[in-house]
Amino acid sequence: MRRSRAFIPTTKEAPSDAVLASHIFLSRAGFISQVASGLYSYMPLAKRVIKKIENIINEEMAAVGCEEVELSFVTPISLWEESGRSEKFGKELLRFHDRKDTMFVLGPTHEEMMVDLVRNRVTSYKQLPINLYQMKIKFRDEARPRFGIMRGREFLMKDGYSFHASYADLDREFDMMEEAYKKILTRLGLDFRIVEADSGAIGGTGSKELMVLAGSGEDTLAVCDSCQYGANIEIFLGAGDEAQKDMVFTSVKDIKGDDICPQCGGKLSLTKGIEVGHIFKLGTTYSAALKAEFLDENGKAQPFIMGTYGMGVSRLVAAVIEQNHDENGCIWTKETAPYMVNILISNVKENRQFELGEELYKRLKNSGVEVMLDDRKDRFGFKMKDAELIGFPYTVIIGKELNNGLVEIYDRKTKINISVEADTVYNKIM
Ligand code: ATP
Ligand code: MG
Ligand code: MG
Ligand code: MG
Repeated sequence: MRRSRAFIPTTKEAPSDAVLASHIFLSRAGFISQVASGLYSYMPLAKRVIKKIENIINEEMAAVGCEEVELSFVTPISLWEESGRSEKFGKELLRFHDRKDTMFVLGPTHEEMMVDLVRNRVTSYKQLPINLYQMKIKFRDEARPRFGIMRGREFLMKDGYSFHASYADLDREFDMMEEAYKKILTRLGLDFRIVEADSGAIGGTGSKELMVLAGSGEDTLAVCDSCQYGANIEIFLGAGDEAQKDMVFTSVKDIKGDDICPQCGGKLSLTKGIEVGHIFKLGTTYSAALKAEFLDENGKAQPFIMGTYGMGVSRLVAAVIEQNHDENGCIWTKETAPYMVNILISNVKENRQFELGEELYKRLKNSGVEVMLDDRKDRFGFKMKDAELIGFPYTVIIGKELNNGLVEIYDRKTKINISVEADTVYNKIM
C-alpha cells in the first residue's frame, strides 16, 4: 500500500476518556474510531490485524476438525425464553420489536441459536461429535463500556460449540480445544495463563479462562510461582458478590485464607489479566432446556452433551497492544502486524531515494511481504513519528546515507537501527 493513498488518519489527540495504552494508541494511530459509547468502527489497519487473528484462529480450528458457520445476529426472543436466559442476561440483552411486533434480541452469544441449528438435524449418536464455530459480531449492552475495544458493546467474538454423546467425549474435546487455544495465543506472541474460572451467566461445570497477563487487566488472578496453576479470584469469592469483586486485595491469603497452590503446594500470588477466551463444559444445560436430543446406542433419546469455546477477537487486538507498546505507540508482533515493513523515503524529491523506495516496494510486494511505502511529501521527522505510533515491526529508512550507498533498517521492538548496503536490503529483510 502507498501511504499517500492510504486511509490512516493518525492524530496527536487521544480520546479524552482514554486511560489504557491500547485505547490511546489504537485511536491515535488510526485503527479505530468511536461512534458512540461502546461502539467502534474499524479502519483499514485494524481490519488487517483482525483478519490476521481470524486466520490464525481458522487454521487452528481446522487443525482440530472444527467447521465454520455463521448464524444470524438478530435472534428471536423465543429462543431466549426457552432457555430461561432472557431474564438471566438482564439488561445486557438488547431487545427490540420488528414491524410485525415480534420481539428479537441482538445476539450477545449464540448457545441457543447453535442448539436450534443442530436440533432435529443431528439425530443419532453416529453423527457425533460435531464442533461448529463462527466469527461474529456480538452485542451486549454493557453497564460500563470502557477502555476502547477492550470492553465494547458491539464486539467481535469467535464462538464455538461442540456436541457429544458422552461426558468422556466432551472431556476429550475440551482438552483438545484448550490446547488449540494455547496454540493460538502462543502464535499471536502473547504472554498468557489459563486459569480456573467461574461459569457465570452461561452456566455449566468445568470452566477455564484464557488470560493475557497485563497490569491493566480487569480480572485479578491467583497464580502459582512454581507451576502453571492459576485461578480467577472470582472462584474464591461469594457468587454474585459484586461489592467483593471490586475490593482491592493485596494477597491471596486475604481472600482464600491461605496462599498455597492446590496443585503443587507452591506459593500463590496475585496478578492482573485480560480475559481473551473462555471455555466451558456446558453439559446438557441448553440441550435439555431446548429439547435438543439424539438417539443413543440403545435407541433412547438423550439431550446433547455440550461444550462452548469463546474467544474475544476484537479484545485480542487491544490485548496485543497492552502487552506490546512503549511511550511512542504500538509495537505489533510479527503475527499481528498490519504491515510487516514500512519503507520510508526521507525526501521524495530526491530521485535516487524515490527510485530505490519504489524498487524495493515492488520487490517486497511481489515476494508476498506486507509492505507500506511512505511516499508522502512530509518531513522525515513527521513520517518517522507516524511509523513509531503505528508500530510497523520494521522501517527501512532511505535517506541521506544513500549517497554513501547505505540505507537503515529500524527494528521497532528493539529500537536498533542498522545500516546496510542499499543493494543488500532486500536480502536482509527476506
Ligand atoms: P467479561 O468478564 O470481560 O465481561 P465475559 O466473561 O462476560 O467477559 P464471555 O461471555 O466469557 O465474556 O465471552 C467470551 C469472550 O468474549 C470473553 O472471554 C472476551 O474475550 C470477549 N468479550 C466479552 N465481552 C466483551 C466486550 N464487552 N467487549 C469485547 N470483548 C468481549
Ligand atoms: Mg461480561
Ligand atoms: Mg468474565
Ligand atoms: Mg467469560
